[in-house]
Amino acid sequence: MNVLLMGLPGAGKGTQAERIAQKYEIPHISTGDMFRAAIKEGTPLGKKAKEYMGSGHLVPDEVTIGIVRERLSKDDCEKGFLLDGFPRTVAQADVLEQMLAEMGRTINYVLNIDVAREELMARLTGRRLCRNCGATYHVIFNPTHVEGMCDKCGGELYQRDDDNEKTVGTRLEVNISQQQPLLDFYQEKGYLCNIDGSQPIDMVFKCIDDIVCNRSNSATTVITNGLKGVTA
Ligand code: AMP
Repeated sequence: MNVLLMGLPGAGKGTQAERIAQKYEIPHISTGDMFRAAIKEGTPLGKKAKEYMGSGHLVPDEVTIGIVRERLSKDDCEKGFLLDGFPRTVAQADVLEQMLAEMGRTINYVLNIDVAREELMARLTGRRLCRNCGATYHVIFNPTHVEGMCDKCGGELYQRDDDNEKTVGTRLEVNISQQQPLLDFYQEKGYLCNIDGSQPIDMVFKCIDDIVCNRSNSATTVITNGLKGVTA
């Protein structure tokens, strides 16, 4: 099962991706996570990505496409994959189609988690992560018991560099303008499923699960179209 997870930053893609990957046993591939890991390791890729990520802009296509191509060729993607954060432009979507065609595969579902801009701003600027285990919190919606300390492991909490108000504003603007043509692109192909991301986390996952298990009436057409090309 080959799935693309779409949604603006803060829509809850990471949380839902973890659940989808676990339930359907496919690897969760997040380009943002791959860039952050490269930055942490100080690799040449990380140095290049940092120039763009720090200011909220997209990393150039030639860099991003290269790492996705390499990742999709790994053995663990044979059963399928869940792409999160890629593609982010129509140019990337075109290349992905070509890449998959070369591999004799196709996309089965494009799941778009839809959340209003104002809510995303509040979610992102209040987001905190654990330096040690990566757990995610929110200063208002999901605070830790002790301020600044992870409930799970006691690690120190930090705010992602690109979660400050100015950068979040830029990230949202950049992503909104890039995302719409991409949604249109997949809508036209009949792959797109829109999910209301303002619901509680469990409800959002239930909607996704219903779509993937063909239990949702509203998504029947999309599922029918999506299943036409199932190869993995
Ligand atoms: P994310 O964790 O998905 O919000 O991504 C964080 C940052 O990584 C983005 O603001 C971009 O700078 C970069 N990034 C992630 N995915 C892509 C992509 N598909 N194309 C270009 N830049 C990306």
